[in-house]
Amino acid sequence: MVTKIKQAPKRKKLRTAGFTNPNALKLDIPTPPTVRECLAQGLFGSGISPRGYREMSVEHSKQLIERHPSLYRLADASPVPSSPPFAREGFACGDGWFEIVGRLSARLSADPNLVVGQLKEKFGLLRISFEMSPLPPSEIEEGTDIALAEAVAESQITCERCGKPGKHAQREGRWSVKCDACTAEEARRKSLRPWMERLLAGLPAAPGGRSRLDLSPEHALALLEKYPGLYREAWTAPTSPASRFATGGFEIGDGWFRIVDRISARLAKDTAFQVVQVKEKYGRLKVYFERAEGVPRDPRLDAEIEAEIREAADESERTCEVCGEPGTHEERHRWWSVRCGTCDQIDEISAACGRIGKLVQGLDLAAFSANEMIQDAVRLALVDIGHAAADQPAKSRERLPGIGWDRLEHFKDAAAVKGMPVDELWRFASEEASVLERKLR
Ligand SMILES: [Zn+2]
Ligand SMILES: [Zn+2]
Repeated sequence: MVTKIKQAPKRKKLRTAGFTNPNALKLDIPTPPTVRECLAQGLFGSGISPRGYREMSVEHSKQLIERHPSLYRLADASPVPSSPPFAREGFACGDGWFEIVGRLSARLSADPNLVVGQLKEKFGLLRISFEMSPLPPSEIEEGTDIALAEAVAESQITCERCGKPGKHAQREGRWSVKCDACTAEEARRKSLRPWMERLLAGLPAAPGGRSRLDLSPEHALALLEKYPGLYREAWTAPTSPASRFATGGFEIGDGWFRIVDRISARLAKDTAFQVVQVKEKYGRLKVYFERAEGVPRDPRLDAEIEAEIREAADESERTCEVCGEPGTHEERHRWWSVRCGTCDQIDEISAACGRIGKLVQGLDLAAFSANEMIQDAVRLALVDIGHAAADQPAKSRERLPGIGWDRLEHFKDAAAVKGMPVDELWRFASEEASVLERKLR
């Protein structure tokens, strides 16, 4: 592979000694975090949210900086606008080039005067430029140019996304190196609707959805990938509110995932079908489907499928919508739902927290301290919470992390709750209860 000369990295002249921007000192603004500080917090080099695969992963960036502290010393420089790009962006190339950059770094580290000022992808090739370090200048280590040229040549045949052999080509007007699989994956992701992107980002499908009762992103994605034809509205429908499925997604809890998976497999056998809505109603699973335009109806097949959907709905009535364990179909808090005993108790904790919140509404610490009746009512609710928490098995505690289960469990000790100081009781009632209610709702 021939490396184009014009892609060869340029060397820049020395900037300010020590790499700090003198103007920054004059401004009375807090210094933004350095690349190293961003990485330590799990953020990408630039400190902004991930920009996709065109950025080295946090783990790999950290490794490079730790192994070659001298070469990447700009990771500790303040990222002001006039700083060299590396201080602001870190490694601005895809993770697929990690090995190439690693090998190159090992060779460049031999020269203590070399400091990387920018490392990025440009025109589908690796590009590196240097800042000269403030150390006394010495001869640039022989072989540096060769090492660079070799790395650039390697980048030209290495998928920037996954590191496998790739093709350097213009894709939609932009040069890049990708393997066939990554090219296909990119095209596929491009077709995703915005809510699909929300799923990929680990957010619930519907903004302001039913919190704990939205199908988790992993489960939703699993269904969409397994049955792309059946759920084609998610991939292809315009974002118009007319498409109920594309805007709402799977409006059911994770406990029903297996049931929906099974009925999807049945429906997907006929490629003319597509699902237009999946939701819970009166504590039962509802699945609505349609035929592709122009496909004639088949009453016999329809009756057969309706029967199977009914069977799935019957099964949903016996299956806890939250966790998938056997549950009972009942009216709870004026809503029909299916819950197992454990999940019922989680709802009880949430409801008790809601009661506590109402009790202290409009009070301040002084008024609360003066009112023993309200204090007692709060203590009573705490004991309820303690018993419900103590009954939670490890499985449901894992499903709902960050609740502080052990502490809640202590509340079942009535004597301890009775002895709780008023200010501690107040803190729980006025601050924690509402947070807990929301998390468990
Ligand atoms: Zn690839
Ligand atoms: Zn359950």
